[in-house]
Amino acid sequence: MVASTFELFKIGVGPSSSHTMGPMLAAATFVERLAENSKLDDVTRLETLLFGSLALTGKGHATDRAILLGLSGQRPENIEPDAADMLVDHIRSHAKISLNGSYEIAFEEGRDVIFDQKKRLDFHSNAMRVNAFNGDQLVETRVYYSVGGGAILDEDQIGSNNPETGLWDVPHRFCSGADLLMIAEEKKLSIADIMRNNERTAKSDDQISADIGAIAGAMSACIDRGIKSGGILPGGLRVKRRAPLIHARLMERQERALSDPLTILDWVNLWALAVNEENAAGGKVVTAPTNGAAGIVPSVLRFYERFAPKADAAGVEIFLLTAAAIGSLFKENASISGAEVGCQGEVGVACSMAAAGLTAAWGGTPLQVENAAEIGMEHNLGLTCDPVGGLVQVPCIERNAVGAVKAIEAARLSILGDGTHRVSLDEVIETMRKTGLDMSERYKETSQGGLAVNLVEC
Ligand code: SF4
Repeated sequence: MVASTFELFKIGVGPSSSHTMGPMLAAATFVERLAENSKLDDVTRLETLLFGSLALTGKGHATDRAILLGLSGQRPENIEPDAADMLVDHIRSHAKISLNGSYEIAFEEGRDVIFDQKKRLDFHSNAMRVNAFNGDQLVETRVYYSVGGGAILDEDQIGSNNPETGLWDVPHRFCSGADLLMIAEEKKLSIADIMRNNERTAKSDDQISADIGAIAGAMSACIDRGIKSGGILPGGLRVKRRAPLIHARLMERQERALSDPLTILDWVNLWALAVNEENAAGGKVVTAPTNGAAGIVPSVLRFYERFAPKADAAGVEIFLLTAAAIGSLFKENASISGAEVGCQGEVGVACSMAAAGLTAAWGGTPLQVENAAEIGMEHNLGLTCDPVGGLVQVPCIERNAVGAVKAIEAARLSILGDGTHRVSLDEVIETMRKTGLDMSERYKETSQGGLAVNLVEC
């Protein structure tokens, strides 16, 4: 199985793919299941229990809000942030919820959404159980796992093939970077071609281009919204949105920029900050591969579009298809979940994907692309997840800016070489996986270690 481009890049809302989008999808899936089995009208009370990382950082990651929206029948891909705010306010002020948008029951959030911080389920730290009752009688119960990037598994899908996610019966089955390079060499294809051929098993060529265009468009719109939106981010940390001010400063000194080559990096920083501030505010973003790391690929993509002499729409497709192929390797062989392997699985993977995408769009060979992806992860190994206050703000927002610059650096290093290098992408993916296994739970999206405990909140 190969993860699809459209599974790695999903349009949704912030602040977290695993703690907001995943739980929202799980709650929506649960009420749809009740409706399909004609059980919805039997329900008098519905309770959601959150475990592990979802319980420990769910408040800061707006998991409670996501549950309310999901139970109301809202899905991350369709929801508009403003409409979501109104719906949540309505549920909270009336203490009632319309399950699947059609059947209203009483809903006391303090009683019906439970953050069980003492319990962690074995399969994954991001776990939740939804129970539907008729009086005291249990009508339906289901465990869901939010496994990263907004994807969920329910208890029946553990260890089984899940045809709803990923591509099956593809012409180019690859499980490793070595496979990708071998296919590229044997079939004389680029990594983007390999990914596109696989996507053709699920969509027409025109549809693939249209959907990639929609992803690129959503990424770009997110940057533009972030640049225009000032103020303080929600959550209580009082983090100021910096993108509008930086943008104004860059616009003021356009003349000076001609003699300051590092101005380009200022723009790259700005675009990444804009996306992650928008994400932290609960705005519309694209997982790349997650929400926490959503700023790196869009920022590097815009860098390509603005500064590559021959940038065009075809290059954008090459960029995103290549980035997705690399993301797929991490998803299948390690993890893209901060709760499983720390931030190396989010910002590290995004950096690797962006480095590979940029190298390919610049015309790099498959060997150079694999080299760029490897460099992008190698220098993020061991990166912990320690969000202050359980919010996707500190260190997440700046970390995306640094990750974007690092991705460009990785692409430059690789394009200057011939693609031969000492550490393979597969070795670095396996090292990331093992490092994640060795990492203390404190550094896996629990806010129990690192900056989350050493920074004095005021
Ligand atoms: S520290 Fe990294 S993995 Fe953790 S929430 Fe922030 S961006 Fe996500």
